[in-house]
Amino acid sequence: MSYSSDEIARIVSSVVEQIEKSRSTDTSVQEVSEQTSSESTINDSWLGVYPEIGMCVSRSNTAYESFKDIGVSQREVIIREIRNVCINNLEEIARMAWEETGLGRYEDKLEKNRLVIEKTPGTEDLSPTAFSGDFGLTIREGGAYGVIGAITPTTNPTETIINNSISMIAAGNAVVFNPHPRAKNCCAFVVHLINGAVTKYGGPPDLVTITSNPSQESGQSMMKHPGVRILVVTGGPGIVQAAFSAGKKVIAAGPGNPPSIVDETADVESAAKHIIAGATLDNNVLCIAEKEVFVVDSVADEFIQALKLHGGYQLIGSNIQKLEKLILIDGKINSDLIGKNADSILGQIGIDVSPEVRMAFFECDFDHFLVKKEQMMPVMPIVRVPNVEVAINMAVEAEKSNFHTATMHSKNLDALHEMAVRSNVSIFVKNGPSYAGLGMGGEGFTTMTIAGPTGEGLTSARTFTRQRRCVLKGHFRIT
Ligand code: NAD
Repeated sequence: MSYSSDEIARIVSSVVEQIEKSRSTDTSVQEVSEQTSSESTINDSWLGVYPEIGMCVSRSNTAYESFKDIGVSQREVIIREIRNVCINNLEEIARMAWEETGLGRYEDKLEKNRLVIEKTPGTEDLSPTAFSGDFGLTIREGGAYGVIGAITPTTNPTETIINNSISMIAAGNAVVFNPHPRAKNCCAFVVHLINGAVTKYGGPPDLVTITSNPSQESGQSMMKHPGVRILVVTGGPGIVQAAFSAGKKVIAAGPGNPPSIVDETADVESAAKHIIAGATLDNNVLCIAEKEVFVVDSVADEFIQALKLHGGYQLIGSNIQKLEKLILIDGKINSDLIGKNADSILGQIGIDVSPEVRMAFFECDFDHFLVKKEQMMPVMPIVRVPNVEVAINMAVEAEKSNFHTATMHSKNLDALHEMAVRSNVSIFVKNGPSYAGLGMGGEGFTTMTIAGPTGEGLTSARTFTRQRRCVLKGHFRIT
């Protein structure tokens, strides 16, 4: 085969252009890690970050148009790089989230971010279905929606951005984030890293965008924007309600108030350890974390002793009222205490304990406000009950039909079965800490968006696909 000199010149110039492009993208990803390691606030060079939500939507729409041409295997290469760049910046991501939000524990944020980086499924989650028979072959595949509008919480800020981005990109979508205003810098940093990874492996710029000026208003304009195809919201009751009024398909991950039951057949020591571990991960800010415990009377004293042995501090007498006054202000949970360490909360009512204390707890009645409200702090109400039947009745009521999470410690199969059926939750963990339900020390994939209200449950790539059917009449039934 021979080429004219014009053709040779064109080929050479195109190769040089490709090399330059890949060099500059490589450098930008490398620079990102180096430059930003000492910066904690949004700067103009961050990729995918725009002041106006309308700009985010428009850029992500452009990106989506070219992302359509990128095959599934290349999406997987991009996702692998997202995992790499996030794991390489893990300490920075966790530190930024911890410092900016003031919630939780740095060391726990490391583990939560690591979890989503490693255990959010990629394209392997998309499983086409085939039907073959006398009439031929039909396949069903999950296709992309387009641009997804996602609203994220302050409690798992960077974790939700990483988890949602991997799942949504695996499914072929672009995404615009409106983060919690109190987590805008750490979330923008992660979006910046993700865009570096996408463009490094041939994906379009701005596949993932985020506004640098998030507010409830920017969230509402995003939800109503005609360029946004579906909404994925993760947060409390306010945002779930607001999303439903936007007139679009909504995947809603709402609040929880997970009960935990300990019955007389449980391994009581192990139950105490697991409840402390689950309820104090990141100081109880997780929606799946144990929020109230129902313990059968015959093992209650033993359980309380075990809690004290494993990092619990028991409040008694007037100290309980002091704590109640600190936590409940005008009928609402004192937001200054959310995600704070137990020793710091106890210090505010004059109780000096070592930082080793992970959780404060006290005995109370079923009607106590902490049994009913989602506290998101390491303070646990414990309700003593006569038997497991009563425990299940109370636990089901305390869960309040959030369709969220419950845990139970028991060896009684009938009781476990009854709770599994009646609680009607998306995640039910037996004989382990709540986070086992997120694949942390438990089997299964992870997510930070558990869509109880709309029923998708633990979301993953396939949740963010439209189901499409393709029919070949009369051929390819090959047996
Ligand atoms: P939040 O409801 O205060 O905020 C969540 C997001 O929604 C933020 O970005 C906020 O700015 C936005 N928002 C809230 N009300 C809005 C409105 N009316 N219009 C537009 N935007 C609005 O919640 P948070 O304190 O950040 O997170 C904690 C809550 O989220 C808890 O209730 C927790 O259970 C829940 N949560 C649920 C899941 C889940 O998977 N189901 C995961 C994490 C957190």
